[in-house]
Amino acid sequence: MGIAYLYRITRIRMKTLAVILFVSVLVAFKEEPSAYRAPIKYIYLTFDDGPLQGSENIDSVVLAEQLKISVFLVGEHAEESKKLQSYYGMYERNPYVESYNHSFTHAHNKYQQFYSNPLNVVNDVEKNESSLNLRYKIVRLPGRNMWRVGNKKRDDGVSGKAAADSLAARGFKLFGWDIEWQHHDQDGTPVQTVQQMAKAINARLAAGSTLTKDHIVILVHDEMFQKKWEESELKQLIDTLRRNDHYVFEHIRFYPPGN
Ligand SMILES: [Zn+2]
Repeated sequence: MGIAYLYRITRIRMKTLAVILFVSVLVAFKEEPSAYRAPIKYIYLTFDDGPLQGSENIDSVVLAEQLKISVFLVGEHAEESKKLQSYYGMYERNPYVESYNHSFTHAHNKYQQFYSNPLNVVNDVEKNESSLNLRYKIVRLPGRNMWRVGNKKRDDGVSGKAAADSLAARGFKLFGWDIEWQHHDQDGTPVQTVQQMAKAINARLAAGSTLTKDHIVILVHDEMFQKKWEESELKQLIDTLRRNDHYVFEHIRFYPPGN
């Protein structure tokens, strides 16, 4: 083996090493930006009080839009008429809709009285569970923004704490909301504009000022959506939010239980 030969081999090895080093640096630089990629932010769109007038519009649009929504249902509404019963059936068959528990009577809107008897609240929620044949032990209490999810707990401050604890002890998860899209009672039209809602949602997610960072629960009501989808404010809000590729719509049973 001559010196010239050894020298050539060493040079080839050095060259190979240099190429490997160069490629590694390139890969490292290429990968670095991913470490700074913005996190996914989860949006839970929740509809309360269905089935009601408006539910049929929601059903068809979430199918067409492939939009995951969570509905908190009131059994007494489903029993009110054949039409409302059929809307409930539509929700059940829709793969983008998940049905959860909003109590059987909705306290008949007499909240103070309803929450003064925790056992009555538990019975009402359990009655709704069996009447609607609900799959998940997931509840939103009527008229109260209360949370019992994993180690997260939040009370509304008015009343209902004892009822919430009793339900949690029976294995129910309770979900409140981070932000509500309010509506006028007379015709269901939204109070805040689409732009105001989108701005508020973006701001809350950016500031991390939701119960769980990077997760936002939005409350709307079925009766808000009595318009055709193309003309509806909900479509405009969804379109606006979907322009952000970091936003993902998810069902509320996937909400993280820990911090
Ligand atoms: Zn309600």
